[in-house]
Formats: sequence, structure tokens, C-alpha cells
Amino acid sequence: MTQSQLNSRAEELRTLIDRYSYEYHVHDAPSVSDAVYDGLFHELKQLEAEHPELVVPDSPTQRVGNELKGGFKKVAHRSRMLSLNDVFDTADVEAWVKRMDKLMPGVSHEFFVDIKMDGLACALVYEDGRLVQAVTRGDSFVGEDVTMNVRTIKNVPLRLHNTPGFEKFLSGRTEIRGEIVMLKKDFAAINEAQRAVGKPEFANPRNLAAGTIRQLDPKLVASRPLTFVAYDLIRDNPNEVPTNMVAYEIITALGIRRNKEASVFTNLADVMKFVNEWDGKRHDLPFNTDGLVVKVNDRALFAELGVVGKQPRAAVAYKYAAEQATTVVKDIVISIGRTGAATPVAVFDPVQVAGTTVQHASLHNADEIARLDVRRGDTVVIFKAGDIIPQVESVIMDLRPKAAQKIDYAAELARQYPELEFVRPEGEAVYRVKGADSDLILKRSLEHFASKGALDIDTLGEKNVVALVDAGLVKDLADIYRLTKDDLLGLDRFADISAQKLIDAIMDKKKPTLERFVYGLGIRHVGVQTAIDLVQRFESLDALARAMIDELRTVDGVGEVVAESLVAWFADEDNEKLLMKFAELGVRPHYEKKSGKLAGKSFVITGSLESMSRDEAAAKIRTLGGTFQTSVGKDTDYLVAGGKVGASKLVKAEKYGTKVIDEKTLLELL
Ligand code: NAD
Repeated sequence: MTQSQLNSRAEELRTLIDRYSYEYHVHDAPSVSDAVYDGLFHELKQLEAEHPELVVPDSPTQRVGNELKGGFKKVAHRSRMLSLNDVFDTADVEAWVKRMDKLMPGVSHEFFVDIKMDGLACALVYEDGRLVQAVTRGDSFVGEDVTMNVRTIKNVPLRLHNTPGFEKFLSGRTEIRGEIVMLKKDFAAINEAQRAVGKPEFANPRNLAAGTIRQLDPKLVASRPLTFVAYDLIRDNPNEVPTNMVAYEIITALGIRRNKEASVFTNLADVMKFVNEWDGKRHDLPFNTDGLVVKVNDRALFAELGVVGKQPRAAVAYKYAAEQATTVVKDIVISIGRTGAATPVAVFDPVQVAGTTVQHASLHNADEIARLDVRRGDTVVIFKAGDIIPQVESVIMDLRPKAAQKIDYAAELARQYPELEFVRPEGEAVYRVKGADSDLILKRSLEHFASKGALDIDTLGEKNVVALVDAGLVKDLADIYRLTKDDLLGLDRFADISAQKLIDAIMDKKKPTLERFVYGLGIRHVGVQTAIDLVQRFESLDALARAMIDELRTVDGVGEVVAESLVAWFADEDNEKLLMKFAELGVRPHYEKKSGKLAGKSFVITGSLESMSRDEAAAKIRTLGGTFQTSVGKDTDYLVAGGKVGASKLVKAEKYGTKVIDEKTLLELL
């Protein structure tokens, strides 16, 4: 992105996040899910981290997210009520600990871990054991006085309990911070009642709880059951509360609810074990949660580590994998399947959804593209539930770049496949290659797969291919590895010896080199040399299948068209299944590092040679690790002159410092 594109992206994100935050915090009526909000927030944070010049003082990353609604008295907090930095996986947690280690070398931390409740934060102030004030978090510095309403919450004691050994907390000021939540069962009952009288249901417990606490009528508040769960205790003298675990023990002694699950661990592995355990169990909790809070247990160290922006350095919020995420569509590519059907695929910046990294999603057909109105450059919401294949759920129209062009599907097909003609049969949503049927396509692909430059399977030529496909013995490329001698003997073409010969030839090619295999797959625009270059760069089929358009383009000779074609091929579900089938049948393409004596050397041959054909020469060069090119470029090492060399070639060779050699010298090199 250029600087001006970066500026405008950051500005658009700020504006939209502010709007969502306002809807959520002030009106308790979010228009998008938390996962979508978190996704955009994360993108903005990342942008600001990579380009610090984009940070402005009023960026949503710089403040705790809400304005005050009005109607309540404003109260300044004695100490800020902060937000927490989000982390999403083990690597994030490790990075967090590393940052602390850098600031405090040699100090090993104990970790205090608790369930993160999804409600609204509130501070209860007790003077000499009596509740005198309840204040919302507000903008972290100043909150709203909601004492009247909080007094109606049944589990908030108006007087702290007197437990032997904890008497000192009943004198002076004791501030207890926690989350006001609506339990799931209470929320369900309220919605049930709403339904019964034909009134609209509430969206979620968090927003209902927040909306309730900021009602001006305490009678209405009292009719909606809320629950307070504490997570912090503050005294004027911090030495009275040395650790977070001690704070929890005091909270219990004072008669206030807190989570029993809170635990202390001395190493990260145990923290992660706890995190993973709760991923499975969190749905059984009585309230909604979106993760866990991990803090440094020692409160003196916690304070010493300080605050960056609006988050303490000594704590993080671990968020569990959401089923939704946001990302930017880089491209829309079309793949042609086994039957000649064209399927559009959205390719995007890799993003985590429901615990896996996703970088493309099928758009199914032209109608779906039109329905979503998805365009290149759009920010989209990706959805993935459990094991289901990721889908593009919607487009965030507010973040659409001005230049984004509507997709004209027929024109896209013509651009991406100029040599093919497509038809859309009456009543069908899918475009197909005109005149192609799956048998014809399969015959061509199998011939190519078995050809000399690819797997080089002896006796699997055109006639045998036709016979195998017509007899229904082979339905995809991988099926040849399933053939038995008996299968073949059932066909007129084969006798004992010829059948055995073909089976042996096929079995002999169960461990092809990776470049031959990649070339053999018949991916559009991927010729022998491109396959070699791709394999040298990615070294495994998995890595190649995962490669993004930008990475692919760093490979010599791979431009946008080739990169799109590769991504589309690997994004196709049928192809994914085909590769799995090859693997199941024991086909193991292997990568051989280039090590021949011509490794790193590139050749161009002009004219014709006397001792061998160009193809033979190319194959020999490749076997020795060299690269065979079709035209002289800046990386060409040798121009082999077969006969007279044209003047323009010589000029180029001179310009690029390419050595011009004759056939005799080539033979010596070989
Ligand atoms: P946060 O989610 O970053 O977490 C910090 C808060 O967690 C604390 O202030 C505290 O109130 C709470 N908390 C709960 N359990 C705790 C525990 N055991 N220990 C310590 N703290 C605990 O907080 P945030 O700054 O309030 O807000 C961001 C949240 O609001 C995100 O989850 C975001 O998705 C959501 N949001 C959503 C929208 C939307 O449009 N959907 C808009 C704005 C914000």
C-alpha cells in the first residue's frame, strides 16, 4: 500500500470502529458481532504498529472505548479502569511474557488466570464496610454513578461480611471491581417473557445487562436480574494485597462472589493447559465468556510493569477462536473443475477463523458473487463453524475502496481463460466450458500426466488412456494407481504381457520427483520450467498449495496470471480431494534439491543442434540442475548458438553479460 492508501485505510478503520464502539457502549445495540469488531480493531493495531506515524491521539486504540451517556453523575476513578490487550494463541502469550522479561530480566513470574466474563465493568466503593458508591468504567478515567441501580443487584452486599482475620478491610476505603453480568438462565427467562407478550427479544446478555444498569428507573432495573462477579480489590495501602490470589481470598471473606476457577500457575505450559481445558468447558459456565484473563500474580511487579496506552503490561485477555473474522479480498480467481464447470474463489490475506488459518473461500457461482456484491479490495466477514468449509458471509461496505470494480463474471471468464468458450446452461447457476465433457477433459489430463515431460509412464499413451477412461476404470488421475492386471485383462487391448507391462510402468512411477508431479497435474500456465522453479522455491507440495499470490510472484517467470491459476487450482475442492487420494494410494512425489554441476546456471538455445533435439538438450540441462529458458534475460548465463545467431539476440547477450557458446562447448559442459 502507498502512504496515502495507508492513511485512508487507517482513517476508515478508525471511523468505523468508533461507530461500532458507540453503538455498543452507548446504545448497548451493536450492529456487528464482537469477532468482526475485534478483527477490524486488530487490523488497525497492526497497521499502527507497522507504521507508527499513523497513530493519532484519538485513535480507538488509544482509549478505552466509550463516551458517557448522560443522565448520571460523573465520578473520577481513583485509579484508571483499564482495558486488556487481546492475545489469540500460544505464540501471542509467549511474546507477551518475552516483552515482560525484557523489561524485568531474570524475574520469573507466577501467572494468575481467571475466566473473563462478558458483561460490563463496575467499581463498588465501600467505606468502613458500607457500600457508598458504584461507578461504571466509563472512559477509564471517569465513570457514571449508578449506585441506585447497583443497590438492586441481590448479590452485591450493602455491608461487607465480617470474617475473622479480615477485619482491617472493613475499615477505611475498600474498592471492589468486577463485572456485572446477566446469567444465561436469567436472560433466557426474560426473552421467554418477551416472547409471551409478543415483544421483541433482546440480542445478548451483555448488552441487556449494560442497558439495564444505565436505566434511569431503578424499579425497572430491579425487575431484571443481574449478578456481580468481582475480579479486583484495591486498598489505599497496596501492601495489604500482595497478590491477585490474596485479593480473591479477601473478596470471598468479604462476602462477594468471584470465580472459584481462578488459579495460579508457575509456568506457561500449565497456563496453556488451563486455557485449552476451558475452551471445551466454557459453554457450561452460567454466564457468557469470551476467554480468560492472565495476569502477573505479584501485584508489586504488576504495578511496576506499568501501562501502555490503555492496557496494563502485566495482563492479557486470551480470546478463544471466533467463528467469524474479517479480511481483505486480494483477488477473485476462477478454477475449471473436472467437469468443465467454472468456480470462482475469493483469495484473501490469511486469517484465523475457528482455530484454523484460512486464505480462500469458494464463491460458488456468478449469482453468489452478485448476491454478496463482493469485489477485489473489499473487506469481508469470513464465517466458519466447526469443520465446515469457510464462507464469505458479507461485505463491510463502509470499508470498500473507491476504485473497487463490480465483478462482471462473464468478462472475468474471458479475461482469465481467453482460449476457452463458456456457456451457462438454461436454469443453471454455473458456467461450463463449451463442448467439454468430463471424459474428454480426463483423457487429456491423463495423457498429459503420463507424458514424457511429466511422469513419463511407459505405454500409457493416447490409445490406452482412451480405453481405460471409456471402460470406466479410471475416473480421475489417481485411479491409475488402483488398476490391477485383471482390470486390464478385461479389455480387448490387453494380453498378459502388455497388461503386466502397463501395471509395472505405473507402479514404477509411484515416487516421481516433485517437479514432474506438479507439471503432470496440468495446472494451467505451469510448464516444465515453471514447475521446476516453483518446486525449487517451495520444496514441498504442501507449501506450494498454501502459497499466496504475492509469494508465488516472487518466483522467476511467475506473473499474475500464473499465480492466479495456481491459487485457483489448489483452492478447488476436487483438486484437494485428488491430492489426498494420491497420498492415500501411496503416491509420494519427492523433492530433490538441485545439486547437479549446472545448478544455478541458465541456458538458452537458439537455432538447431546437430547432436540432439532442443527438448533432449533441455532435459539434459535440467537433469544436471541447470535451468532451460526460452529467451535471453538478465539471469541467462549461456546462449548456445546452433547455427547463426540473430543480431538482436547477440545485443541482448552482450547487455546481460551472457556467454555465447557453441554446441561443442555445450557438450563439454554436459
Ligand atoms: P476487553 O474485552 O478488552 O477486556 C477488559 C475487560 O474485561 C475489563 O475491563 C473487565 O471489565 C473485563 N473482565 C471480565 N472478566 C475479568 C476478569 N476475570 N479479570 C479482569 N477483567 C475482567 O474490554 P473492553 O475494552 O471492555 O472492550 C472490548 C470488548 O467489547 C471486546 O470484546 C469487543 O469485541 C467488544 N466490543 C464490541 C463491539 C461491537 O460492535 N460488537 C463494539 C465495541 C466493543
